[in-house]
Amino acid sequence: MVTLQGENAAPPRVAIVGAGAAGLMAAVFAARAGAETLLLERTAEGGRKLLISGGGRCNILPSEVDESLFVTDSSVNSMKKMLRSWPLREQIAFFEKELRLPLEKEAETGKLFPASQRARDVRDAMLNDAQSFGARLYSQAFVTKVEPRAEGWRVLLADAPPLDVDAVVIATGGLSVPKTGSDGSGFAFARKLGLKVNTTYPALTPVTSHDARFHSLAGIALPVEITATDAARSYAARDAFLFTHRGYSGPAVLDVSHILARSIDEGRRDARLSVNWTLLDEAEWQSRLDHGRTGSVIGVLRRELPERLAEVLCAHAQVDPARTLSQLRKDERRRLLDALLRCALPWSGHEGYRVAEVTGGGVDLSEVHPKTMECRKHPGLFFCGEVLDVFGPIGGYNFLWAWATGRAAGIGAADCKTQRNQGTKTRD
Ligand SMILES: Cc1cc2nc3c(=O)[nH]c(=O)nc-3n(C[C@H](O)[C@H](O)[C@H](O)COP(=O)(O)OP(=O)(O)OC[C@H]3O[C@@H](n4cnc5c(N)ncnc54)[C@H](O)[C@@H]3O)c2cc1C
Repeated sequence: MVTLQGENAAPPRVAIVGAGAAGLMAAVFAARAGAETLLLERTAEGGRKLLISGGGRCNILPSEVDESLFVTDSSVNSMKKMLRSWPLREQIAFFEKELRLPLEKEAETGKLFPASQRARDVRDAMLNDAQSFGARLYSQAFVTKVEPRAEGWRVLLADAPPLDVDAVVIATGGLSVPKTGSDGSGFAFARKLGLKVNTTYPALTPVTSHDARFHSLAGIALPVEITATDAARSYAARDAFLFTHRGYSGPAVLDVSHILARSIDEGRRDARLSVNWTLLDEAEWQSRLDHGRTGSVIGVLRRELPERLAEVLCAHAQVDPARTLSQLRKDERRRLLDALLRCALPWSGHEGYRVAEVTGGGVDLSEVHPKTMECRKHPGLFFCGEVLDVFGPIGGYNFLWAWATGRAAGIGAADCKTQRNQGTKTRD
């Protein structure tokens, strides 16, 4: 039997590529587990997306999770296993107790923010914690390639000598908001190593429209129910909707925008947007527009909707807003109900990766072990965060994913040398 005590004595050396949300969390847990942790970040400071998140306040987590709202083309079961590896309650406790970062729930949305309302405090708390356990941040360190060696990995950098390490964690994010450092490096690394990378697309991005009827409503915001459907998929959201000069935005629109993006990318452009402008249902609207009631159509609509939108919806339904309810014909009432409850909203495109909050698609989850995030084909290589084929809706879901997978990858990477040596030890 071979004895490897001497080799086990040196701590594992872990390189984490990308100091964004997932990379910082991986660094915290790799360093806490005793690994020599090197955080390699191409920008000057890292965590740029974290700093601009939630309008600079960082919606760090949701207060409740509905797993069915996550989107992936990979195995949903694998995704759930990865999410459940660090349940929401434990994540909240970690930020509050371990990082001493009190969180506050926003009453109307249920979103959690740091009590200080400062995204910078989240970034700093994670970086300080990792550094207090010995992690080192190398900024302006652009990783160009990762390659397996007989033992461990070699990390090649643009302007520095290569680094030899025991494990590499790819936490490079996706393609969205390139000025934050995202350029899709992680997808290229994965492809070069023969891994399956599912088609990427912008998600959580505003939608554009050339239809002048709705442009006049720019600035109006209201809660809606919206569904985007195409031949392949469907996604619904109930949240705030915002008319803009170029089209539509707000959390509800962002949440469904990936359906449009994919229908364009797949050359179909067949996606339909259907909006229920109030949270009233068909029976409630029917009763309000009842023939026997007094008043005008616009008078009834105005009670439930911003006046300018009410007028545009009347025009959309080809109904004179001044018409009294008693004058309203059956076909007009039907068109009005359609406009109010399932308005077919015209769209032309989307704002793309420039402003998309996340990238959909990415490294297929079948490529990694759900518990450790270690690559099945390449031991010692780990993935976490947005580079993987999962994203969630607005509301702290994307950080939930980054925290859970970042933690698992950090622990897994710190443990990989032990695993390797234990594996060798048993061999004669
Ligand atoms: C405007 C905006 C607001 C958002 N608000 C929220 C919110 O409030 N709540 C929420 O849950 N989600 C939010 N998100 C989404 C969230 O920010 C992302 O899901 C999350 O940051 C992904 O984490 P990540 O670590 O995987 O990637 P990133 O945070 O993008 O980090 C990747 C890091 O890797 C670095 N990198 C890339 N390639 C290399 C390379 N080759 N060498 C070295 N370094 C490299 C990049 O510079 C970057 O620092 C928001 C996104 C945006 C754009």
